[in-house]
Amino acid sequence: MTSADVLILGGGSGGYACALRSAELGLSVILIDKDKLGGTCLHRGCIPTKALLHAAEVADSSRESENFGVKTTLEGIDMPKVNEYRDGVVARLYKGLQGLVKSRNVTFIEGEGKLVAPNTVEVNGVNYTGKNVVLATGSYAKSIPGLEISGRIMTSDQALNLDYVPASVIVLGGGVIGVEFASVWKSFGADVTILEGLPHLVPNEDISVSKALERAYRKRGINFTLGTKFASATQSDTGVEVTLEDGKILSAELLLVAVGRGPNTANMGFEDNGVATERGWVVVNERLATNIPGIFAVGDITPGLQLAHRGFQHGIFVAEEIAGLNPVVIADINIPKVTYCEPEVASVGMNEEEARAAFGDEVNVYEYNLGGNGKSQILGTAGFIKLVAQKDGPVVGIHMVGSRVGEQIGEAQLIVNWEAYPEDVATLIHAHPTQNEAMGEAHLALAGKPLHAHA
Ligand SMILES: Cc1cc2nc3c(=O)[nH]c(=O)nc-3n(C[C@H](O)[C@H](O)[C@H](O)COP(=O)(O)OP(=O)(O)OC[C@H]3O[C@@H](n4cnc5c(N)ncnc54)[C@H](O)[C@@H]3O)c2cc1C
Repeated sequence: MTSADVLILGGGSGGYACALRSAELGLSVILIDKDKLGGTCLHRGCIPTKALLHAAEVADSSRESENFGVKTTLEGIDMPKVNEYRDGVVARLYKGLQGLVKSRNVTFIEGEGKLVAPNTVEVNGVNYTGKNVVLATGSYAKSIPGLEISGRIMTSDQALNLDYVPASVIVLGGGVIGVEFASVWKSFGADVTILEGLPHLVPNEDISVSKALERAYRKRGINFTLGTKFASATQSDTGVEVTLEDGKILSAELLLVAVGRGPNTANMGFEDNGVATERGWVVVNERLATNIPGIFAVGDITPGLQLAHRGFQHGIFVAEEIAGLNPVVIADINIPKVTYCEPEVASVGMNEEEARAAFGDEVNVYEYNLGGNGKSQILGTAGFIKLVAQKDGPVVGIHMVGSRVGEQIGEAQLIVNWEAYPEDVATLIHAHPTQNEAMGEAHLALAGKPLHAHA
């Protein structure tokens, strides 16, 4: 098959979700990828990093087991074995995904594609056409101008494939990817230093959450410098040396460059065919349509949050849009975000600063400390759930920090996206003793009837 209702370039989270949903809706689909189906998330992103973070949690549990009266000795980290476990997880999911795509009769074409006409993608000399074209080519790990990625200076792509635990690492960038790798390496026994040019770690989160994470990292012995910019780095056979703009010099075995991801759109014929881009990002309207009729773009190549579940949602949205189902737009602000470091960070909706900018004094904020939550005490984690609500109105943001709080994001995103009032949630029952209870307690308190909390 060389022509279809929907022609998708890129088989990552955004592209394959669009393919699966389009096929479900009875549309014929061609899906093109130059690499493995599943993209960054499955092969180089979410899944492999979360497997490493789970192994890191196991290491921490062994190390700290004496606190719970359990005698163990952590002999070390067998990195090839950790990687084998990680690869097993990825392989099983990859197999499942290949099966799904096949079972829905999606035509998968392996090869590098280029847009050669508004409705045509060329792969290895063959032209594929679509009534609709969906661009889903994802993102790549960026570096800083002049900082070459090679040898001991690496991005997450190389860091994921290390077959040893470095003795020391400098992590350039205190965003999501930086703090997650820092967390893994510290748990595996490395000496870790994060360099963040902005005033806080995870700078896109509510400032109270950033500060709590910084406290927790200090306690874990993860070093970081905030608000000082990186100047340069050199490497030798034995290590890297990093100079900051204030003249400070740091050295370590490796440097991880985690300074963000750029759109994968160069030399793919997008601009040549009139598709509007801005600094490489494909410009779309809120319905994910580009300026060229019949061409859509989804996932990381569109400006905004770079998250797999945003890609899934984009892909489903575009499939339904093409099928004429008029799907509902979800604003980026209401997409849940989880950072899987230890302790975890999770949020959805407006942070306090954003809510105050939008509603002035008409904002209520409540922070429920996990110190009052039985299950968190059992786990031995500190942290909180912070609610941001409009006065006499709905909850517009939920911000959390603490071990395992990522698991609470499901209810949090329902509350924010369904525009629930604190009183609505306060009447619902949260099982005891769970960390989820803290979600209920926070809403009880904001509704003026705190149980295990002070007003
Ligand atoms: C280390 C790391 C950890 C992450 N952790 C998380 C997480 O925990 N949770 C989360 O939600 N998100 C996470 N992400 C982000 C997530 O991986 C991305 O948001 C998601 O993969 C974006 O999906 P996409 O479809 O837009 O692009 P991608 O997944 O990047 O897929 C794009 C696909 O297009 C293909 N392609 C590109 N150019 C061409 C071409 N010319 N021809 C053919 N094929 C082409 C590529 O081979 C690729 O398969 C993480 C990312 C990284 C790097």
